[in-house]
Amino acid sequence: MKYIIALDQGTTSSRSILYDAALTKIDQVQQEFPQHFPKPGWVEHDADEIWDAQWSTLSTLLQRNAVKAEAVAAIGITNQRETVVAWDRHSGKPLARAIVWQDRRTAAFCQDLKKQGAEAVVRRKTGLVLDPYFSGSKMHWLLKHDPAVKKAAAEKRLAFGTIDSWLIYKLTGGKRHVTEVSNASRTLLMDIKTLAWDKSLLKRFAVPAAALPQILDSDALFGEAAVPGLEGVVIHGAAGDQQASLFGHRCFEAGSLKNTYGTGCFLLRNIGPRCLPPPKGLLGTVAWTLKGKTTYAHEGAVMIGGAVVQFLRDGIKIIDDAAASETLAASVEGNDEVYFVPAFAGLGTPHWDPDARGLLIGLTRGTTRAHIARAALESIAFQSRDLIEAFGGGLKAINVDGGASRNKLLMQFQADITGAEVRVNHSGEVTALGAAMLAALGCGLIKTRQELSKLDLRLDVFKPAMPAAARKRLVGRWAQAVKRSMGWAKA
Ligand code: ADP
Repeated sequence: MKYIIALDQGTTSSRSILYDAALTKIDQVQQEFPQHFPKPGWVEHDADEIWDAQWSTLSTLLQRNAVKAEAVAAIGITNQRETVVAWDRHSGKPLARAIVWQDRRTAAFCQDLKKQGAEAVVRRKTGLVLDPYFSGSKMHWLLKHDPAVKKAAAEKRLAFGTIDSWLIYKLTGGKRHVTEVSNASRTLLMDIKTLAWDKSLLKRFAVPAAALPQILDSDALFGEAAVPGLEGVVIHGAAGDQQASLFGHRCFEAGSLKNTYGTGCFLLRNIGPRCLPPPKGLLGTVAWTLKGKTTYAHEGAVMIGGAVVQFLRDGIKIIDDAAASETLAASVEGNDEVYFVPAFAGLGTPHWDPDARGLLIGLTRGTTRAHIARAALESIAFQSRDLIEAFGGGLKAINVDGGASRNKLLMQFQADITGAEVRVNHSGEVTALGAAMLAALGCGLIKTRQELSKLDLRLDVFKPAMPAAARKRLVGRWAQAVKRSMGWAKA
């Protein structure tokens, strides 16, 4: 029997998942890891803590299922995107905390680049916008402000990488410094057409080419594992989490799309083999490159999705666990005019305002924590609706997945305020499945994408039930609240 193992390194937890040769899930181990918030607007991870959590889930998975290296056909990787790790090539140790995609510390630098008129050329070359979200300005910040990173760069010991790159480095015992193309397309440093690091962009962000990994296709041979119990197993597939989810949903045809409700929410639409410029407010990105052929996608991004539920749990502590948000919110019939704009990390699509901040509005003496929980859940759906509108709206159905898609109240509200059927994929981890599919194709265990289309998916369907007038009113109020949250951090 041959297995595929997928590593899914998310923003809040690391997972390892075991699949059989037909890509049926056998077992999964998951572990949360610490989030570090050293200053307002800053979000950091410790790259060693990420690896420790990943390794702990992987080794438990291997032991619990008595898996031997000979039985594993390949490893696939999917990961939180844009987050930057800087490490020392000689010691293999991180040089600084990883700067997470949600981190806003480079807002002023991005603003300066915009003032210099850089946005148009950056957008043309990368499909992205000048926002702190992407890796380039984070690398620039580390090189400018972190003495250990600066010194390592001067001594040519510096290695930069996104999380895929870091995991492959650790899995191969420090042998490989490579990255996967969909991840590289999120750095602001890669030309989305040539799929190579772009000299003029590197210059703009003052990032030395020598510090960057080699860019490989999504189904490439990334290296051989050198960790205990998996020696010699090939790493043969990788993609950023949202691209892997698009693949896992089998959105292989141009026009097909999905929305994922994880820490953030990300709507991606497959646009086929041509790199078409994205509509206003949306991003252009590589979906995947398979056997040398690239598929592109357009994307809308919400910075805080399920993370607002974490805020209810860990920040203001009005619930004990994420699932309790649903019961609490369901204990009131409506939001009673309470709106919660969770712009903790600025706003993404369609506003791209790094200076927006969270806002809770409409409070009265009658407001309870139930209204706040409800407004928080509704905010996830409102933001996702804004994404759909940026794509032109008018959808009949949306494929969805991600941690917060387990929330039935949220999914029903999503159907209600978009007027579209919401189809929740209940294999639960479509992202990991996407990585497993890439690895299975990469190592030849599965030969064609047609075979992948036959895999069984369990769906829960939510149908819209809200009258149009009620929808219009809610959406209008939401838009007003969003306006009031914008620009707050600039003052
Ligand atoms: P990531 O890959 O970004 O770490 P996941 O897809 O694992 O994200 O989803 C985790 C997110 O889902 C967390 O932000 C968590 O708060 C949220 N979440 C999990 N369960 C629920 C639930 N029942 N209701 C609402 N949100 C939930």
